[in-house]
Amino acid sequence: MIPLHKPYISGDELAYVTDAIESGELSGNGKYTNLCQGYFRENYGFNTCLLTTSCTTALEMAALLSEVGPGDEVIIPSFTFVSSVNPFIMRGATIVFADSEEQTPNIDPASISRLITNKTKAIIVVHYAGIACDMEAILKIANEHQILVIEDAAHAQGAKHNEAHLGSLGALGTYSFHPTKNITSGEGGLLIVNNEKFQHRAELLWEKGTNRKNFLMGEVNKYEWHDIGSSFYPSELNAAFLWGQLRNTDKVNDRRMKLWNIYAEELNHIPGIQIPNIPDFAHHNAHLFYLKTANNTLRNKLISELRKQGISAAFHYLALHESPFWKTKGSSKLSEAMIWQDCIIRLPLFYSMTEDELNLVITSVRKIMEG
Ligand SMILES: *Cc1c(COP(=O)(O)O)cnc(C)c1O
Repeated sequence: MIPLHKPYISGDELAYVTDAIESGELSGNGKYTNLCQGYFRENYGFNTCLLTTSCTTALEMAALLSEVGPGDEVIIPSFTFVSSVNPFIMRGATIVFADSEEQTPNIDPASISRLITNKTKAIIVVHYAGIACDMEAILKIANEHQILVIEDAAHAQGAKHNEAHLGSLGALGTYSFHPTKNITSGEGGLLIVNNEKFQHRAELLWEKGTNRKNFLMGEVNKYEWHDIGSSFYPSELNAAFLWGQLRNTDKVNDRRMKLWNIYAEELNHIPGIQIPNIPDFAHHNAHLFYLKTANNTLRNKLISELRKQGISAAFHYLALHESPFWKTKGSSKLSEAMIWQDCIIRLPLFYSMTEDELNLVITSVRKIMEG
């Protein structure tokens, strides 16, 4: 069976984890956490970035920092993972689901414009498949109305909007290092703090509401409780594992891109399926290769026929506004999100995928489409 994805393993992980064990420093915010955060500051130009236990917890920090609460509205695409939304519901905010674009599964700026009210406090954008949202249009709308933009860049490490790394354009951004993402630490994430006004508080929340950071820096002689917070950072064992991966990001993304480009070339111009549409400003990271089928029947047929041939392909998000949890809470008509829910199919793509495996998937898709 050709899997949909397989976690990347560099082979360097064990040596770093062993080093962390031997150092005796197992809890978080130590040497490897600093190395990983430093990597992003040096290579991505980030200012403050904080390693977290997952992208979900990074988004929980973003929700806390945004100070949204009851009576505030938060605009979020319906076509996304639950973790984009849960942190804001947990703060008591009112969720307003937005539609996707026709050309990409990303949030449609026109849909955002229609949904803004004087209660809108934040817009969450998700760069699906590492393909940048239309940030110019989104930031323009947000700035006009003084609304916070938070980027769920879980898919998007290494991807850019023009020259800017995704995650660096909103006030806050988040990455995921879940094994399904391009690089992994088992479970892990990153909070990127772009708006300086959040920097100090982000560091407090991250340290369970204490000023332990200032204490470690020798700036104060005891650390005290200053704010709410939680256990948001990973152990050094996870950070050491991530360090064994991080430095290979470019190599991993280059290989994935090579495979992605072959898919795009070979599966282009086949009636009934469309390859991803990449806007000019988007420099993606080959996180996913997906097709948009002409209808739901064709999509499901492709998945089941590929499975018979030993190939795992999958649909993706079920539009959240139609989920069992949400159905009783609100109703919206988001037609593009429903089309993506019904018509997207993801094909296998992972670092160690061979060219033979790739060719088998391509020939199989072609045969099914012809037959
Ligand atoms: C994977 C993913 C998350 C959650 O990431 P975790 O690190 O597993 O918490 C959030 N949002 C999106 C869009 C994702 O794909």
